[in-house]
Amino acid sequence: MFDLNGRVAVVTGGNGGIGLGLARGLAGAGARVVIAARNAKKSAAAVAELDSLGAAGALALEADVRDEKSVAALFDAVAARCGRLDILVNNAGTNIRKPAHELSLAEWREVIDTNLTSAFLCSHAAYPLLKKAGGGKVINIGSMLSIFGTGFAPAYAASKGGIVQFTKACASSWAKDNIQVNAILPGWIDTELTVKARAQIPGLHDSVLKRTPAGRWGAIDDFRGIAVFLAGPASDFVTGTAIPVDGGYSIQG
Ligand code: NDP
Repeated sequence: MFDLNGRVAVVTGGNGGIGLGLARGLAGAGARVVIAARNAKKSAAAVAELDSLGAAGALALEADVRDEKSVAALFDAVAARCGRLDILVNNAGTNIRKPAHELSLAEWREVIDTNLTSAFLCSHAAYPLLKKAGGGKVINIGSMLSIFGTGFAPAYAASKGGIVQFTKACASSWAKDNIQVNAILPGWIDTELTVKARAQIPGLHDSVLKRTPAGRWGAIDDFRGIAVFLAGPASDFVTGTAIPVDGGYSIQG
């Protein structure tokens, strides 16, 4: 049910934060993990860490998920070096916190390209490889802002709402190919991204603690289990869903 031995997984943005938590889960279950991100030094450190978990030959490939050519080269390299692809995790993301009237078109595009168009580019490039493998798993990373509104992150909210609908679209069209596509909606997780948020939004740290029934911020290791579930045979009849991993944040009024 939870054995990923022999499977190859690409994790975009897997060199830190939630992506690294997801990668740890996949590697721990036996998958060969390809870390796809821009910062080669961070990626090398992540690969060393995954290797120390006893994972099967993790590797880092430099890629910019906003760029069609870079994404195509990434999946060509995966095919050449790993010979197959079974799991794609679309995790890379960014945020620019400004209300819509202050956000420039360039800033809007930066967030939409990094968070949403990237998932399209990677899924599009991965599909032939997943199909060739006889099926596979795509895991897209949404957010609480896939569900809720907010005044301070219009492009981010649009991208994360879009991720959920994109997940459903791909799940519908690829079910016949035995490819399951699901989204994870993280609550507030302690990462580089939210260190910035805490600096920019007064009172955020305490308001998250107050609203989260689990009584804590999430940690990146909270994503190990859901990664294994959504990447392995245990979830073969689960597709098109968006699963909160949020300590109960989204069930509170
Ligand atoms: P981090 O800032 O810690 O990690 C972001 C990752 O994305 C980095 O590994 C970065 O690697 C990679 N990345 C960014 N831009 C690109 C790019 N153009 N090409 C390739 N890789 C890129 O953030 P988190 O771990 O917090 O976020 C991960 C995902 O989880 C995002 O989609 C985020 O929106 C989502 N999320 C996070 C929440 C949180 O509370 N932390 C809550 C809800 C959702 P590099 O710079 O080396 O390219």
